Amino acid sequence: MPFDLSASLAERRAANLYRQRPLLESPQGPLVMVDGQPLLAFCSNDYLGLANHPKVIEAWRAGAEKWGVGGGASHLVIGHSTPHHELEEALAEFTGRPRALLFSTGYMANLGAVTALIGQGDSVLEDRLNHASLLDAGLLSGARFSRYLHNDTVSLANRLRKVTGNTLVVTDGVFSMDGDLADLPSLCAEARRANAWVMVDDAHGFGPLGATGGGIAEHFGLGMDDVQVLVGTLGKAFGTAGAFVAGSDDLIEALVQFARPYIYTTSQPPALACASLQSLALLRSEHWRREHLHALIKRFREGARTIGLALMDSATPIQPIVIGDSGRAMQLSQRLRERGLLVTAIRPPTVPAGSARLRVTLSAAHSVEQVDRLLCALAECWPKLTGEALAHG
Ligand SMILES: *Cc1c(COP(=O)(O)O)cnc(C)c1O
Repeated sequence: MPFDLSASLAERRAANLYRQRPLLESPQGPLVMVDGQPLLAFCSNDYLGLANHPKVIEAWRAGAEKWGVGGGASHLVIGHSTPHHELEEALAEFTGRPRALLFSTGYMANLGAVTALIGQGDSVLEDRLNHASLLDAGLLSGARFSRYLHNDTVSLANRLRKVTGNTLVVTDGVFSMDGDLADLPSLCAEARRANAWVMVDDAHGFGPLGATGGGIAEHFGLGMDDVQVLVGTLGKAFGTAGAFVAGSDDLIEALVQFARPYIYTTSQPPALACASLQSLALLRSEHWRREHLHALIKRFREGARTIGLALMDSATPIQPIVIGDSGRAMQLSQRLRERGLLVTAIRPPTVPAGSARLRVTLSAAHSVEQVDRLLCALAECWPKLTGEALAHG
């Protein structure tokens, strides 16, 4: 029978992989209302606490009064307005690149950049734990597609020996489900030896990482000779929405000409660009947000170690607790929820089979007391979960 959707849905449910959308009935922030329940949340990507910042909201409001609401048309027709242009210039300056190009979402920026740069006869090499949008982009490009072992320069080097045509090495900067950093200095050196370009999607690095929030490129001190294509998204630490690609003048001109997800879509609302300009200013000037966030990360990791939780090698606000089995990950998430805490379980296919986890994320908006509350709840729930697993073999 064609389109047997109920069978696919039943199968997903039986595998503990069924997805449900929690209904958020409040703005983003540590304290939220979800499905009628007040909860302390540790799962948003609003790492600096800017999504509901009064100054960003005011910039949005003032922007809408000046520029109206809708983008009106695509950038190449009549949708490229002054706030978009100013945001691009500010992002270029922020990243230390000659130009930046604004996209409506990070998914589109990744599809656009990869498919504009490579096609049939070329090669694309991706870390096997890259974000889905990067993997989709590589497949869609029509280039020879190969995944190297996670963060493994030797595995990359082996594949670089077999490439044809223009070659693009693509990696997350901060891995979105693990929180670890790409080993960019050695990946970039390997790529350079093979005349390949490097594209880094630093969706989770901009804001939390680098002395001024400039992300992984700033963290490692890498310029345009190392990372030719630098992608950032605005929906995470910036607290707004959209994304950008930063690089050379030729790169940006090529994207304007050839990146279909840039060309064939309406520009984002100009007022949104006004809000992003304001959040960029806060991200750059309010260093206390980054400093407080890193103090929370340290406190959480120390506390988790005391409890005996299996943490990953992450110095970023992404602090996953790996459980393995999807059902048990759901159970732990549910127990925390009964105690007033919201931490989402992340299951395959978002993460590899057998590596379901609770993806704890911290934000500068959290207080030390709130992180301690999470640790207390984990100290209560975790031994029970592992104890039951032992009892049930
Ligand atoms: C969230 C994310 C994206 C997608 O960005 P959106 O603006 O949400 O579409 C792309 N890459 C990575 C690594 C991400 O985490």
